[in-house]
Amino acid sequence: MTERMIVVGGDAGGMTAAAVARRRRGEDELDIVAFERTPHTSYSACGIPYLVGGVVTDAEALVARSPADHRERGLDVRTGNDVVGIDLDRREIAVVAEGAERREPFDSLLIATGATPTRPRLPGIDARNVFGLQTLADGLAIRQVLDDRPPAHAVVVGGGYIGLEMAEALVGRGVAVALVEASDQPMATLDPDMGGMVADALRGIGVDVHLGVGVEGFDTGSDGGVSAVRAGDMTLAADLVVLGLGVKPASDLARAAGIDVGPSGGIVTDAQMRTSAEGVWAAGDCVAVRHRVSGEAMAIALGTYANRQGRVAGITMTGGVAEFPGVLGTAIAKICDYEVGRTGLREEDARRAGFDPVSARVESTTRAGYFPGATKMTVKAIADRRTGRLLGGQIIGKDGAAKRIDVMAAGIWNEMTVEEFAMLDLSYAPPFGPLWDPVALAARKVSDLIIG
Ligand SMILES: Cc1cc2nc3c(=O)[nH]c(=O)nc-3n(C[C@H](O)[C@H](O)[C@H](O)COP(=O)(O)OP(=O)(O)OC[C@H]3O[C@@H](n4cnc5c(N)ncnc54)[C@H](O)[C@@H]3O)c2cc1C
Repeated sequence: MTERMIVVGGDAGGMTAAAVARRRRGEDELDIVAFERTPHTSYSACGIPYLVGGVVTDAEALVARSPADHRERGLDVRTGNDVVGIDLDRREIAVVAEGAERREPFDSLLIATGATPTRPRLPGIDARNVFGLQTLADGLAIRQVLDDRPPAHAVVVGGGYIGLEMAEALVGRGVAVALVEASDQPMATLDPDMGGMVADALRGIGVDVHLGVGVEGFDTGSDGGVSAVRAGDMTLAADLVVLGLGVKPASDLARAAGIDVGPSGGIVTDAQMRTSAEGVWAAGDCVAVRHRVSGEAMAIALGTYANRQGRVAGITMTGGVAEFPGVLGTAIAKICDYEVGRTGLREEDARRAGFDPVSARVESTTRAGYFPGATKMTVKAIADRRTGRLLGGQIIGKDGAAKRIDVMAAGIWNEMTVEEFAMLDLSYAPPFGPLWDPVALAARKVSDLIIG
C-alpha cells in the first residue's frame, strides 16, 4: 500500500527532505504532499537583501525550484495552504485553503515551519513602510518602495547580519541609512572588540550608527506612512524602516500538538531529526540545534542547517541511516567591502560552557603584504587555556578574507588544539595570502600565550 508523507513548510528544510525522500522512494511506494502557506517554494531567502539592493535584478533567479518544478519531480506541492493543527491521535493535519478547513491524513509527518521574525508591539509599528524581512514577498515589497518612490532616509532596526545586509542594500540604492541597535555592538554573535570593528566599518560606508539605544516607537506622516523612528532621546527621520530584530523558531504548531519544544523555543529532535512524537520529524529553523563545543541546545536560524537537516530527515523518514551532527554557529556576512565571519564560541560563551578562554587577535593581510591588492584583515582565535583546544574564531576584512572562517570551523569541528591548527598544511603563494595564513597566525599567537 502507498504510504503518505506530509511536509509542513515548502522551503529549505521541507523541500530538501521531500526531494531526498522522493529520490529514495518512488511514487508507487510513497505519496509526498507538501503544504506551504505562501505562493513560493524553495527560494533563497539569503539572496533577498541582494534583490533589494539591485545586485540581483530578477526575483525568479532566487527561486531554486518553483511549485511546478517540484510537481514535475513527483511531489504534490500545495501552495496557499496554511496548516493550522496536527492531530497525533488521528494521524491527521488540519489545513486551511481558500477559507475552507479540511483534514489530511499522514503516515509520516515533517514539520519544517521555519522561524517567525520578532515584531514588538511598539506604537506606530503598523505604519506603512515599516517592513520585516523574512519572505520573498517582504523583499519584493521593499524593492517596490525603492523603485516607486525612493526614500531619502531609512532606518534599520537591529544590528544582526540581516540588518547589516539591508543597511548595505539601502546604502547601495543611495538612501541615507541610520542603524539602531539596543546592545552596545552590532553583530552580537561576535566578541565586543570585533563587534566594535563592524560598527566602525558601518560608519565607514556612511551609516549613521546608534548603539545601546532601543526603539520606542514610530511616527506617522499625514499619508499614513512612517515619518520617523523614536529611539532614546533621538527622533530619526525615516521614510522606510526595516526591522531586523531576529527570529524565533516557528514551533507553535508542534507545541500545540504536544510535541516537545525546548527552552530555546526550538522543537526537540534526536540526531535523526525525530521529534518526541512517533512518526513525526522536524527540520530547519523551527528546530533546536546542539552546539558541538558547548553542548548547548540553541535556536540558530541558518539555511546551512535547514538544508542539511532536511537531507537527514528525508533519509531517515524513508528508512535510511543519517545523522545531523550538531553545529558551530559558522556564519558569514558582507557589508559593502567588509566581510565578517564567525564560528564556534565567543569568549563569553566559552566561559559559560566551563572553559578557561584565552584569545589573541592578529592584524594580517589578504595577500602577501607587498603584493598588489593586499588588504588588511583581522582574525581572532579563542582557545581553552587548559587543553589548548581551539574553541572559536572571528574574522573581519575585505577581498574574501572572511571565507577563511571555514578553515577555522574545520579545526574546531575536529577538536584540534591551537598548536595543531597553527601547524596545519595550509597553502601559500603571495597572491593568496601571507606565508603564515592569517588564521594559522592567530592560532599560533594563542598557542604562544598558552605554551609561554
Ligand atoms: C533576509 C534573509 C537572509 C538570510 N541570509 C542567510 C545567509 O546568508 N546564510 C544562511 O545560512 N542563512 C540565511 N538566512 C536564513 C535562511 O534563509 C533560513 O535559515 C532558511 O530559509 C530556513 O529554512 P526553513 O525551511 O527552516 O524555513 P523557511 O525558509 O522559513 O521556510 C519555512 C516555510 O514554512 C512555511 N510555513 C510556516 N508555517 C506554515 C504553516 N503552518 N502552514 C504552511 N506553511 C507554513 C513558511 O511560509 C515558509 O515558506 C537568511 C534569512 C533571511 C530572511
